[in-house]
Amino acid sequence: SLAVKKRVFQVAREFNISNEALVEYLHKLGYDIRNHMSLLSDEAYGKAVEKFGETELQHDSEYEFRRRLKEKKAAEEAKKQQARDSLERRLKVAKDLAEEMPRLKRQREEEHEAEPPKEEKTAPPPEAKPSAPPSQPEEKPEEKPKKPKRKLKVVEIPPEEAGARTREKPRPEPAEKPEAEPSKAPSEAEPKPEAKPQGPDGKPKEKEEEEGAERKKKRKRRRRKKRPAETEEEPQITEKKDRKRKKKRHRPVFDEAEIQENIRQTLANIDDTAPGKTRKRKRRIAAEEEEAELEPQVIKVSEYMSLSELSNLMNVESTELIKKCMELGMMVTINQRLDMDTITLLASEYGFQVEALEEFGEDILEEMEEEEEGTLLPRPPVVTIMGHVDHGKTSLLDHIRKSNIIAGEAGGITQHIGAYEVTLDHDKNITFLDTPGHEAFTAMRARGAQATDIVVLVVAADDSVMPQTIEAISHAKAADVPIVVAVNKIDKPGANPDLIRKQLSEHGVLVEQWGGKYQAVEISAKTGENLDSLLESILLEAEILDLKANPDRKAKGVIIESKLDRGKGPVATVLVQAGTLTVGDPFVSGTFAGKVRSMFDERGKRVKSAGPSVPVQVLGFDGLPQAGDSFVVLESERDTRDISQKRQQLQREHEHWRSRPRTLDEISRQIAEGQVRQLSVVVKADVDGSIQAIIDSLMKLATKEVAVDVIHRGVGAISESDVLLASASGAIIIGFNVRPTSKARELAAKESVDIRQYEVIYDILNDIKAALEGFLTPDISEELVGTAEVRQVFKVPKVGMIAGCYINSGKINRNDNIKVYRDDRLIHDGRISSLKRFKEDVRDVATGFECGIGVERFDDLKVNDVIEAYHVVETKRTLEQSTR
Ligand code: GDP
Repeated sequence: SLAVKKRVFQVAREFNISNEALVEYLHKLGYDIRNHMSLLSDEAYGKAVEKFGETELQHDSEYEFRRRLKEKKAAEEAKKQQARDSLERRLKVAKDLAEEMPRLKRQREEEHEAEPPKEEKTAPPPEAKPSAPPSQPEEKPEEKPKKPKRKLKVVEIPPEEAGARTREKPRPEPAEKPEAEPSKAPSEAEPKPEAKPQGPDGKPKEKEEEEGAERKKKRKRRRRKKRPAETEEEPQITEKKDRKRKKKRHRPVFDEAEIQENIRQTLANIDDTAPGKTRKRKRRIAAEEEEAELEPQVIKVSEYMSLSELSNLMNVESTELIKKCMELGMMVTINQRLDMDTITLLASEYGFQVEALEEFGEDILEEMEEEEEGTLLPRPPVVTIMGHVDHGKTSLLDHIRKSNIIAGEAGGITQHIGAYEVTLDHDKNITFLDTPGHEAFTAMRARGAQATDIVVLVVAADDSVMPQTIEAISHAKAADVPIVVAVNKIDKPGANPDLIRKQLSEHGVLVEQWGGKYQAVEISAKTGENLDSLLESILLEAEILDLKANPDRKAKGVIIESKLDRGKGPVATVLVQAGTLTVGDPFVSGTFAGKVRSMFDERGKRVKSAGPSVPVQVLGFDGLPQAGDSFVVLESERDTRDISQKRQQLQREHEHWRSRPRTLDEISRQIAEGQVRQLSVVVKADVDGSIQAIIDSLMKLATKEVAVDVIHRGVGAISESDVLLASASGAIIIGFNVRPTSKARELAAKESVDIRQYEVIYDILNDIKAALEGFLTPDISEELVGTAEVRQVFKVPKVGMIAGCYINSGKINRNDNIKVYRDDRLIHDGRISSLKRFKEDVRDVATGFECGIGVERFDDLKVNDVIEAYHVVETKRTLEQSTR
């Protein structure tokens, strides 16, 4: 009956009137209508139609409702996405500029004699930026995949013109230039151009930028997960929904590539700006280039691939590649593994576009997926319940689970396998992930897996919107997952659902009753009141999402939960997302392979196969996969093993290469070795005055060989975008009277960016000076390894004095350095000449033993002297040590 009868809000929606108006009208007619959730009798519905409706068919109007809702959502999404894109572009431009700067600078230095350098420097930033955003406003998501080519053109022409413009414009100025020049390139010239690109959009958007950085981080992960083979891959229309989602996610990747390309070209054009080239010719060259660029070659890369692997892929000599790296300010060896940013940069240098494979073998798997076309059939929604602690998530899950048992299934849900499927009266299913809380959701998303279709947000009506409620909202929104609000505990006397609605609206969740797009249902997880309408709302939401999957292919899914069972070995719950999983299927999951030995459902029943949206517990893993790992069935067991082995190997290597040092010490060392000629810094301070003072003094530190390059400056806390910028350009961050935000700190740790905080300008100058001189030497400390007391002294002919000692603590090694103390005063510091036990030479002697020690070039040993053995330990100066 649920399917036929309608609720007030649905009817109101249908006729495009407010819930209140409908309730009031029906009330007046004497119907028992309490609120927007009340069901309308056929009669009442008839009255409503008479009053508000045209005599449309019920079916049509409902269809209309969905269509409108869908449209609205799409529009909203498009808007959101646009904002996101524009932010990302801006960040990316800043980042890329920072990346390109060192190279540009070097080029400029090379061309130094030919041309006044300043003009080129100033050219790219103002140009590159405007060219990117303008193309945006007209973008509609649907057009995206087709646009790139056209956009490339739009983007390309300006650089060329800009190049020309800049050449013309600055020309009148050269008279002023020389005064900036004598201190050589960096001093005056640097801060200006770099500050510019960030300045204009950096400042007013600081907040956004931070958010952007955060999103970007997430995006990055997603992006690494899958990059599309770009535009050409249109023809798979079958898996519409899936594809659509994918594309949405991929779009930023494209933008990035495009912007990078844009910048590359800009720079290329600037390079071309050599004297003697006519405009026409330049234009022609640009046009040719453009043509060539229309079909950039795509190479598939995995992060941390080695330089030699990359050189093979691009068919470029590895020595050539190493040289290129050096030009870009990176010292790499042939076997060194490169991170994604570096790979992308290098590839773009050679005109390649990269497509990242997060996991080894993903390309094969994707290809396979493309082959597997078939009919898409509706699949049940997968729901995660989120909300603040104690608002009733567990109770709700329990109640749904219990009522389902009551609904007649033989043998209730007995197992906790991390998810379960409920079947409703009208034969519709919903899969609940029953690990309440945000961790599961976030953890999975962090790993690029999106298992959830719909989030049910539980808010207790006797409480209020709480921090975790807000967190849940942001998570769901960030993941682009629709929310159905469950206002819980309405059975409680203190329940105030209206307050909840109000508070939710303050956090961007405007419920339907208030004219918003979020369905909200008042429930009691305790009494079970209205749970049916909650489930109904979920189904409605699912219908809007139009969830489909092809059951008739090899299964693909995600790990929901895993545990090591004493008897059975690794056991994991797989949520099948497409295809059908069958006993005997060989699979790869994360870094492990396996073959489905047996499967169980949440009732502990053995099952033979599981289709889309069905969670099953699977036995037969080689190792324990992690929640969020992908799960893919392959044709042959050999393939699965190959892939898993390679993945495991890569994983080990990743761990090795996770960090590249970008500390001041490291840079200082490189300066000392002549590898780096400038120290890039980001300066953040509490007030603008300090920044100027710091920058001025830093500039004065420049010598002929080295200089400080301020790539970004700003007032306020050190943000994530500062860290990103620094990371991209191998810079350190100087904070004067400001701290990094906690997010920035985390990111800095991850990206190995050195953040140095100071309270005294003099300290900054000292450190930077030391670094520039390559003098930031390690601290040398001594580690005590053993002590001995002298109990006797012998004179041994031809050898000298030998002290008969007893080892009090530690261990003394033949090669140790030693100090000799008498009455606590140091009387000698040197080395051991001989170490013997019973006339035998030995390598070391441990605590509690006696031995004879001879000291190099020292004969003045006396009974009761104390001999201390120590190691010399070199410690790199840490942030704290050199800052304080
Ligand atoms: P969780 O932390 O979000 O999983 O919340 P729980 O499900 O553990 O619920 C917290 C407390 O609220 C428990 O004591 C439940 O009995 C109680 N509770 C949950 N839902 C309701 C409800 O609808 N009405 C009432 N009166 N109590 C509820």
